[in-house]
Amino acid sequence: RPVPVTVAVTGGAGQIAYGLLFRIASGALLGPDTPVRLRLLEIPAAVAALEGVAMELEDGAFPLLESVDISDDPWLGFSGANIALLVGARPRTSGMERSDLLAANGPIFTEQGAAINAVAADDVKVLVVGNPANTNAFIAMTNAPDVPAARFTAMTRLDHNRAIAQLAKKVGAPAADISRMTVWGNHSATQYPDLAHAAVAGKPAVELVESSWVTEDFVPTVQQRGTAIIQARGASSAASAASAAIDHIRDWALGTPQGDWVSMAVPSDGSYGVPEGLISSFPVTCANGEYTIVPGLDPDDNARARIDASVAELVQERDAVIDLGFA
Ligand code: NDP
Repeated sequence: RPVPVTVAVTGGAGQIAYGLLFRIASGALLGPDTPVRLRLLEIPAAVAALEGVAMELEDGAFPLLESVDISDDPWLGFSGANIALLVGARPRTSGMERSDLLAANGPIFTEQGAAINAVAADDVKVLVVGNPANTNAFIAMTNAPDVPAARFTAMTRLDHNRAIAQLAKKVGAPAADISRMTVWGNHSATQYPDLAHAAVAGKPAVELVESSWVTEDFVPTVQQRGTAIIQARGASSAASAASAAIDHIRDWALGTPQGDWVSMAVPSDGSYGVPEGLISSFPVTCANGEYTIVPGLDPDDNARARIDASVAELVQERDAVIDLGFA
């Protein structure tokens, strides 16, 4: 029997986790042969609700689920974690500026970074979903000096999947026919979904759609999709965010298909003019449990300006959390 993988999830009683945990338990994250140990974290006020989620996981009688442990202590919750999904975050409430959000989340991700540094497994891979995800990941990374920086990532896969879905719908092709979609920058309204290199069943997407559709429809629809879902559903996207988190980790751990790539926010190595160490979304390929930023793409002037604007926002967020003493 293969060695079980320990997966830690924060915000375990939240909406995204409710979509995420049952799929992890079913084998969707690491495949049908890998047993999983779940370690769920919550703030003290939500531990009772988390006990209910753990009971439901037990009631699933999942053959791959070896154990479920719950805690409100990151030093216990991240213990031995091979994969850490940082979903819980302080939500933005009305009247809160982005800077207030950074200040509210700083202590959470400072502590979680330190705990991961101290007690996670040597091979830990971290995905931050809780917003502002890129900068929360930056804080956690900075507070985990003994963990290779490259193991800290943030989620732009939902934006990537949304971009694939919009293009698929436009050209009347199944999502499976779309390859080489790219999302650049911050997981925020400044992100840049870029279909310059995307293909539909191997044909360049730009030859199949009008450029006016790209600028007036595709880009704003992807950027504003989260708001559209809140308006329609009366609540944030949760199941699709959970599904994207599964996709992110599965592809990172098990690899991307030949000839295709995915979008992940990862610490920059200086590629594409993004300052080194900034956690920004790039096109990446994955193999053997590691990702590589796709080299040699040549963003045109419009793409360059959009990427630069999103990266400028990330620089501001980074400087703000450094000023606040979190990184
Ligand atoms: P959700 O589970 O719906 O969302 C969790 C986080 O994911 C939020 O920061 C949310 O950002 C973010 N997110 C990122 N991408 C998306 C996306 N595409 N769509 C929707 N959300 C996205 O929040 P809940 O409030 O239901 O649950 C959060 C849980 O986390 C609570 O149970 C709370 O107690 C817990 N928590 C745990 C902490 C810990 O473990 N230390 C710390 C703080 C909270 P956004 O708000 O911008 O939508």
